[in-house]
Amino acid sequence: MGPGKVYLVGAGPGAPDLLTLRAAELLRRADVVFHDALVHPDTIALAAKAERVAVGKRCGRHSTAQRFINKRLVDAAMKHAVVVRLKGGDPMLFGRAHEEISALREAGIAFEVVPGVTAALAASAELGVSLTRRGLARSVAFLTPRVGAGEKPNDWARAAASADTAVIYMGVGEAAAITASLVECGVAPSTPVVVVENASLPGRQRFAMTLRDLPGVAVAVRGIAGPAVILLGEVYSELQEEAATPVAEVRRAWPRRVRT
Ligand code: SAH
Repeated sequence: MGPGKVYLVGAGPGAPDLLTLRAAELLRRADVVFHDALVHPDTIALAAKAERVAVGKRCGRHSTAQRFINKRLVDAAMKHAVVVRLKGGDPMLFGRAHEEISALREAGIAFEVVPGVTAALAASAELGVSLTRRGLARSVAFLTPRVGAGEKPNDWARAAASADTAVIYMGVGEAAAITASLVECGVAPSTPVVVVENASLPGRQRFAMTLRDLPGVAVAVRGIAGPAVILLGEVYSELQEEAATPVAEVRRAWPRRVRT
């Protein structure tokens, strides 16, 4: 018997019942599971007979270097038939899947990717606002301002400026810089924005505003440990009456509202 197979599996945005049937079956069969920090404990529990290893990277905390994760996947496949790499949302979006796939290819290990519901789609479902709309929005960009070595910091903002709707991942912590970059790229400060935190989870929250108010509101959001996406575009104008809540009140209300 040769080496086993590595499955890069999307765990979805948080709620355990947003997992695909294929993912659930693989978790049931898994010998070992390497999972992200954001994956729900009930989802990990589906891997009843597996050794479970947390390799989460959450804002630099408890981070395991990517190269080390790649190596562990290869090593595990040498010992086990079914190795699952369980990632938040969809593996192919801001999940470093490329690096893991390259390492597996190089080592001659078979792999398969199982898609998951990405945060942008869970947030949209929650909002009840379509990312696209006839006559108003026909293009969507998924972006992150998080840059790797050698990348130009503002490239992402140009893409956001040219898409009708943009969803920004890993951005809430640098909201002021995001607003500045977008405005510099020609996005109107009056553009409707909504921040969705903990999409699909019981502690979910949303904050509607305009781009110019994003830095102020993000201060409130930053006090919370949950993951959040920033959605931007005219489709969110229908949520703008919610934007009337003053930021100070939002901040005061946050801890109480988030724990419901
Ligand atoms: N592969 C993942 C994204 C990983 S990057 C996916 O497809 O969703 C991590 C970022 O995803 C977070 O910083 C946040 O911007 C976003 N995110 C993940 N889960 C989320 C959730 N439940 N609600 C809102 N944003 C979320």
